[in-house]
Amino acid sequence: MASHFFSFILAILGFFNQEPPPKSNPNKPNIILIFADDMAFGDLGSYGAKGWKTPNLDQLAADGVRFTQFYVPHAVCTASRAALLTGTYANRLELYGALDHTAKHGLNPEETTIAEMLKANGYQTGMVGKWHLGHHAEFLPARQGFDSYFGLPYSNDMWPNHPESKNYYPPLPLIEGEKAIAYLEDQQELTSWYTYKSLEFIEKNQENPFFLYLAHSMPHVPLYSSDKFRGKSEQGAYGDMMMEIDWSVGEIRKKLKELGLEENTLIIFTSDNGPWLSYGGHAGLQAGLREGKGTSWEGGIRVPAIFAWPGKIPAGKVQDQAAMTIDVLPTLAKITGSKLPELKIDGSDIWPLVMGEKVTLKPYFAYYNTNELQAVIYGKWKLVFPHTYRTIPPGTEMRNDGIPVKYVNVKLEKAQLFDLGKDSGETTDVAAQNPEILAQLYGFADQARADMGDALTGKVGTGNRKAGRISQE
Ligand code: MG
Repeated sequence: MASHFFSFILAILGFFNQEPPPKSNPNKPNIILIFADDMAFGDLGSYGAKGWKTPNLDQLAADGVRFTQFYVPHAVCTASRAALLTGTYANRLELYGALDHTAKHGLNPEETTIAEMLKANGYQTGMVGKWHLGHHAEFLPARQGFDSYFGLPYSNDMWPNHPESKNYYPPLPLIEGEKAIAYLEDQQELTSWYTYKSLEFIEKNQENPFFLYLAHSMPHVPLYSSDKFRGKSEQGAYGDMMMEIDWSVGEIRKKLKELGLEENTLIIFTSDNGPWLSYGGHAGLQAGLREGKGTSWEGGIRVPAIFAWPGKIPAGKVQDQAAMTIDVLPTLAKITGSKLPELKIDGSDIWPLVMGEKVTLKPYFAYYNTNELQAVIYGKWKLVFPHTYRTIPPGTEMRNDGIPVKYVNVKLEKAQLFDLGKDSGETTDVAAQNPEILAQLYGFADQARADMGDALTGKVGTGNRKAGRISQE
């Protein structure tokens, strides 16, 4: 009895002694992951953009670290998003290409997303924007760890106004939670809506550690800007859209500042793949890289990437070492003290790179298109295997009105080695001069094939898993 009384008094004393809970916990920073769609390597001012300005994104780069050799493993929407959110090569997850309204599969609910990982560690999780990992309810963000969701289930061109496939697609639903709340007639306000929903989420969760995944539908075609930006860039619709996405980043930073959260929030900004070149003036800037979206050449797989966390990440660093979107999940696990997924993942913690340090290279990165292993990269070295890829025939007259020209398929007949340090445009095969490097990269490719398979050489991997399938067909 006495001891009960005593602990009661201690509890009361403790109650009055308690300091107000800190607004933020430095061990659990807020995470804002902004993923642009089809935004090219050269599209930000800090990466050399011309024709439009991106002052907010340039400030973000000046306040943090900017990567010059940052990759997606698969240069297409669905696969790239799967890799980002799970830290795993998408072909290991049986997710390829870009799912549309006819898909009967999606990201397997057995896989662990960044949202699920952080939620298990006490985070509030929200997603705004393009999902593209299965549009059936059982694959939507709410079933993959997100407390809230507002956005499009797949690409913004998968609608009845598609320039090449008129009336193939049904009306494009705007989803909140798991319900369609509207069908889009146009998309002028889409980027603004995403921005306001993001600000609302931040405001609502300012007292909790939160994870916001903002996956812009733009600058993927069709390009629609709001009145604020239409006609504002020198370049046209693409530049207007870039300015609006830049504005969106600025609004988010302004909100963080206003709420006193700036120094407790890590912002990551990157893109799902390179420019959709057949759209001409409605595509982004290659910045000297070869080809674009849908290929494993640098123009398809290399994307801008900025990590900023004022007071934590040194400001204004440029990181030239290679990293990939699959590294985001394990890096976030490390800095938040979260438990890694139980199933095997492929990414690794790149926190030292984010802090601007030089580190020992990780073994290699693999680049697949469907299940074809098309390239491997080790540091500055890239080995490209014989494969068929799409390109625009020389001399084609490009358009600037949202109508694409036709690609043709061409075959790379023999493997080529490139020194990306000297030749990021992949113009000169240096295989003959570098037999040791070549042998090393062939060894890495064999490891990837044994693990994940390769349709080009007919290898079946032992480490692949299954996509999720809808329960009733
Ligand atoms: Mg894309």
